[in-house]
Parts: sequence; C-alpha cells; structure tokens
Amino acid sequence: MIVKPRIRGFICTTAHPTGCKASVDGQVDYVRGAGAISAGELNNVLVLGCSAGYGLACRIVSAFGCGANTLGVSFEKLPEGNRTASAGWYNNIAFEDAAQAEGLYAKTLDGDAFADEMRTRVIETINRDLVQAGKGKIDLVVYSLASPVRQHPKTGTLHRSAIKPLGEALDIKSVHVDRGEVIQVNLEPATPEETADTVAVMGGEDWEFWMDALQDADVLAPGCRTVAFTYIGTELTWPIYWEGTLGQAKLDLDRASRAISGKLAGLGGEARVAVLKAIVSQASSAIPVVPLYVALLFKVMKEQGIHEDIISHIHRLFATQLKQGSELRLDEDGRIRMDDVELSEAVQQEVQRRWPLVDSSNLDELGDLSGFREDFLKIFGFGFAGVDYDADVDPVMGRV
Ligand code: NAD
Repeated sequence: MIVKPRIRGFICTTAHPTGCKASVDGQVDYVRGAGAISAGELNNVLVLGCSAGYGLACRIVSAFGCGANTLGVSFEKLPEGNRTASAGWYNNIAFEDAAQAEGLYAKTLDGDAFADEMRTRVIETINRDLVQAGKGKIDLVVYSLASPVRQHPKTGTLHRSAIKPLGEALDIKSVHVDRGEVIQVNLEPATPEETADTVAVMGGEDWEFWMDALQDADVLAPGCRTVAFTYIGTELTWPIYWEGTLGQAKLDLDRASRAISGKLAGLGGEARVAVLKAIVSQASSAIPVVPLYVALLFKVMKEQGIHEDIISHIHRLFATQLKQGSELRLDEDGRIRMDDVELSEAVQQEVQRRWPLVDSSNLDELGDLSGFREDFLKIFGFGFAGVDYDADVDPVMGRV
C-alpha cells in the first residue's frame, strides 16, 4: 500500500515502515560517526519506553556507542489489514535488525510496562537470554515511558493524566500547529484528583516498582545504575509544565530517585533523574504552549549553531554523564543537568525577547514552526530524503 501521513490533532495515525527504518538508520549512523563511548562498561541495558523519542535514542547509543546488549519494552499498535502499525513497531524492527547485524543481542517486548505481568516477562527474559547465556546481569535501566494513562497494577484503577496549571486558570500564548497561528489558550486549573492522577501516571511509583522487582529477582549487576528523564525549562513554560500537574509528577520522580538510590546502595549502584532539553516527540507535542516555545527555541539554537537533536543530545548524555568515571554535572537536587545549552543565557535571552513579539504574521521569521512540523512528521517516518513515498510498501513487513 501507499502510506501517507494522516494527522489527527496531536498524532499521526499512520506510520511509514521504510521512513521509520531511515529514521533509526540515520541515528545509528550518527552514533557510529561520533565514535565509541566505552568498551565493556555497559554490557546489558534495559530500556523501558524503547521505541521512540529519548528511549529509542538511549537504546541506539547503548548498542552502537557502547556495544551493549539491549532489552526494550514498548507498547505498540500492530498492523492490521490496510492499517499501518505504530511508528514504534517499525522502529523496533529496524533497531533489532541493525543491532543483530552487529552481533548484539536485541530483543523487544511489546505490552503494557505498567503491568506486573510485563515485569515478570522482562525478568524471565533477562534470566534466560542474558544471565543463563553467560552475558551477565543488567548494568543500566533507562526509564523513558511517556503515557497519558496508567492502569495501576495493584488497585486496577485507570489513571489519566491531565496537563493543566495548578491553582488558577492560565491565559497563555500557544500555537495552532496545523494552522500555523499564534493563539491565546485558556486552561482551567487542575482539581486535586487530576493532579494526583497525573502523578500516578508520570510520577516515580512505577519506576520504583520496576527497580524493586529487578532487584528482588537478582538480575541487576553490581554498580547498576538507573536513569529517568525530566524537563524543567524556563518561566515561559513553567506555568503549564514545571508549576503545573506535570511538574508535580516530575517532583515525584525526584523522590523516587532518592528512594531507589537508597535501595541500590548495597549493590554500589544509584538512580539519577536527568534533565533533558525540549524536543519534538509524540509526548511533548500534546503539551499546550510547548510547541510555540520549541519553535522559538529551535530557531534561536539553529541560528547560534548549537541546535541538538534527540540523538546528539542523548549521545552527549552517555558520553559525558553516564560513561564510567564522568564528572557529573548535578544541580542542588542531585539531577544530571543536560539542559545547560538550552538554558544558556545567550539562548534564553533571545527566546525571551522574541516571546512577546511573536504572532501569526512573524512566526516563520522569529520561530521555526516548519522545523517543528518536519520533526513531528519524522516521528512517524515521513519526510526522509531517499525514501520513495509513492512506492508500495508492506505495512506488515512479513512479520505478523
Ligand atoms: P515518546 O512519546 O517519544 O516515547 C514514549 C515511549 O514510551 C514510547 O516508546 C512508548 O511506546 C512507550 N510507552 C508509553 N506507554 C507505555 C506503556 N504503557 N507500556 C510500555 N511502553 C509505553 O516520549 P519522550 O518525549 O521520549 O519522553 C520520554 C521521557 O523523556 C519522559 O519522561 C519525558 O517527560 C522526558 N522528557 C521529554 C522531553 C521532550 O521534550 N519530549 C524533554 C525532557 C524530558
């Protein structure tokens, strides 16, 4: 079939198999070109949320920068009839093919990472494929899930996150990405229940459940580390992010990080939250205000020649912060700060100067909405040079 993008609100309901492969291969090439990060330090890496965005980039850097075996978990839509699979399903296949061609173990488990059954499957797989096969235990757990819902594994309650401000209603500038118009949005404050639900979905409890289960099953190697990701940003996005429901969830991630570190101490391991830069991902596109901020940020960072995409940002995280013996760049709360370039004075002064000036008429001049749109389409495998988008492709790839 011929696959074209079909965009509904914040998501694209189609994904291009060949384009997703081009996306993964391009990231693999970047990492290969950047040179090896370490030899023999990271043997086995577990990536929760491995199929897209930051998790996928971590898996690619682990494998192709550090020579690690990787086990990934993600939740995908399988192809059916003339419906394509989710992009992550194609990304996982492309990644596994590339890693296996390199002689690296690479397996992906598809299903709900919030469920206890998935923890059991992962532990069984680690024991069978890695420990008993003499490859060793897990050295690094990357926690990179981003989801709007979580069914609690103990209570069965379905928690839905709400991306809202706290306390008072918020009247704030944003952008209608499809129409290319700068708009004013009015967001009602979250109720206490909505805030608690958002913490239940995007907070640290599930990360703790994972680390407890892995430690109890004795599948973590001595010195095992785990990292989860957060975003802080600046006063432009604080009202909707850091000072809103999502910020409460991210504070809970900090709490979980300390709790997990305490438990990993006996193994000589630790947990860290890493503050990453704003990028275009399926998760971040759904947050009001963020696309406008990202459009201005990208324009400024590109003009200053310091733009980082997902893979270069994650490569820097591994090369400068996760590599053994790195001098950690921590803040007062013990988080690894990778947002130093985004938050540099030269960048923020310029973004903040443009923020009150930007409107629909000068959006292309002050911001990079076309770059935002291109990155958004690339998540789903569209817009890669060298891919023939008029060619007939098999959405099932002969796999299902
Ligand atoms: P993403 O949407 O690109 O990827 C999310 C991943 O989680 C996918 O692999 C998806 O399959 C998986 N997933 C979601 N629900 C799942 C479930 N129930 N079971 C199994 N897998 C599931 O997200 P992203 O933007 O890369 O975000 C990852 C982390 O990075 C989040 O914690 C996010 O807050 C953080 N972060 C993102 C940004 C940004 O700008 N996007 C910036 C800083 C930090």
